[in-house]
Amino acid sequence: MSHYFHQRVDGSSWDLPLGKIVCVGRNYADHAKELNNPIPKEPLLFIKPATAAVSISQPITIPQDQGECHHELELAILVGRELKNATPAMVPGAIAAVGLGLDLTLRDVQSRLKEKRHPWERAKAFDASCPLSAFVESAGVDLASLSLQLYRNDLQQQSGNTRDMLFPVVELLVDISRVFTLLPGDLVMTGTPAGVGPLQSGDRLHAKLGSLLSVETQVV
Ligand code: ZN
Repeated sequence: MSHYFHQRVDGSSWDLPLGKIVCVGRNYADHAKELNNPIPKEPLLFIKPATAAVSISQPITIPQDQGECHHELELAILVGRELKNATPAMVPGAIAAVGLGLDLTLRDVQSRLKEKRHPWERAKAFDASCPLSAFVESAGVDLASLSLQLYRNDLQQQSGNTRDMLFPVVELLVDISRVFTLLPGDLVMTGTPAGVGPLQSGDRLHAKLGSLLSVETQVV
């Protein structure tokens, strides 16, 4: 079992319980395009359970014999205060911190589920499908202009900037809060930019969030 808890960069614990993980699909046009998906008119939402969360600094284990397991590097938002039917003005004060998450996706399984118009949980919500970095306080951080990069074995695989989101962070949390009440300790995974691809056992990963975070891990 994982013993995940929300961490600060110094390794200490945030005083926030781990709740649900609300994820957003197709929030960058370039990624929607690379998978031949249409641009959504409203945010595409799904949920990972708390059992999906693991620390990214632990070696990443990927499911075996289920086809390709893709990395999707995303800005992760740590919610600090309850949001329900939020207005845009309520959102910034309710965000405690930002970090990086990998929305691990069994792409072949997802393709089969999509064909059958079935839900995606088998492909995206399995145990340890959400490796997470430490979280940095977001006060003073411009969430509308944060760069994120993922390097796999020293080669850049993904690069994006939150300015290219189809639904920016504030708009996203307003929309999500009309569907799911966001509670302190919940996470929002805000979608991935282009460059997703399969992970292999032995891969070394390096993920960066602007000048705020730099994390390294490996796949076993
Ligand atoms: Zn994703």
